[in-house]
Amino acid sequence: MVEVSESGIVVSNKGQRVLLDPRRESKADIMFFSHAHSDHLMTTGKKNIAYAREVLASEATTRLARVRGNALSLASCKDCFDGYDLIDTCHVLGSRGLLINDQIYYTADISTRQRGFMGSARIPQADILIVESTFGIPRYVFPPVYDVVHTTNKIIGEMFDRGVSVILMGYPLGKAQLLIQLFQHWAPLYIHDSVEKINVVYRNFGIRLKEGTVISNVKQNFLLEKSAPWLMILPLGAARSGYVKTMKERYKAVTIGFSGWAMDKAYRFMMGLDYALPLSDHCDYKELVRLVLASQARKVFTFHGFSAEFAHTLRGMGIDAEPLKRRHKSQQVDDQTQKNNILDYYF
Ligand SMILES: [Zn+2]
Ligand SMILES: [Zn+2]
Repeated sequence: MVEVSESGIVVSNKGQRVLLDPRRESKADIMFFSHAHSDHLMTTGKKNIAYAREVLASEATTRLARVRGNALSLASCKDCFDGYDLIDTCHVLGSRGLLINDQIYYTADISTRQRGFMGSARIPQADILIVESTFGIPRYVFPPVYDVVHTTNKIIGEMFDRGVSVILMGYPLGKAQLLIQLFQHWAPLYIHDSVEKINVVYRNFGIRLKEGTVISNVKQNFLLEKSAPWLMILPLGAARSGYVKTMKERYKAVTIGFSGWAMDKAYRFMMGLDYALPLSDHCDYKELVRLVLASQARKVFTFHGFSAEFAHTLRGMGIDAEPLKRRHKSQQVDDQTQKNNILDYYF
């Protein structure tokens, strides 16, 4: 009923083949796209979409995918379909889980923690739960959001007192918008163009985000020199880029990266950041356990990150749980490969 194919997680429901966040083309009756992060969208051409009779995604996900140049924009997506309910997972704007016939719930990426304008996800009851387990070991219990906000404000304050500019770094879809809202009281604010493109969609969906100056407008007119110290929002992936290097050399700017992986001491060094703070758009370990209990599921499948470890924990609590793995032996994802994949999340 629930298995993993080459293209991703497949659910067979009343003779219908339902593909969840497929990464590549495959025949299906229904395809569901949970949100517009690139690890949940297909990256190839529009022909993919034609393989499914119905494509389910929220309107915001469709719009964000379009802005990010993804094939999903070329399909006509629906956000409701008989027996299929899309439920807000509060991971990023437009993120949804899929509840099939009130029986099977696929969480995709999910957060049950209130942070800034992001609410906490509601968990429906379901017989079968397919739950993400990105941070599914006890090491990943995040501090309260206000702690992270307090620490960040303290760093920015101290730096600004010394005339030092600060670069906040996060994933351009979701985290960057949260950072803009949480630290909107600092000025002037400079925003990377890739982040601003996404901000526009957030504003269209009613999220009030402070307007900053986009970086492409800053370059020529020496604004950065004249206005220091300033706050800048950049994608996390740019931490080791020439641009950040220049900012550090020319303006002595310091970088603060935000990610759940910042719970690992090595994260800051691996990413080349001055500071790394744990602010995540995923559930932490304790929240994942609470989520599973709230669903009252009799069978749980885990995927992403520490799936084997989290399933093991759940079994220890008397819950029937197993990690989702590919059926075919040669394709089986062993635990070591899964751990290696964790490094991919860092970037
Ligand atoms: Zn995501
Ligand atoms: Zn994901």
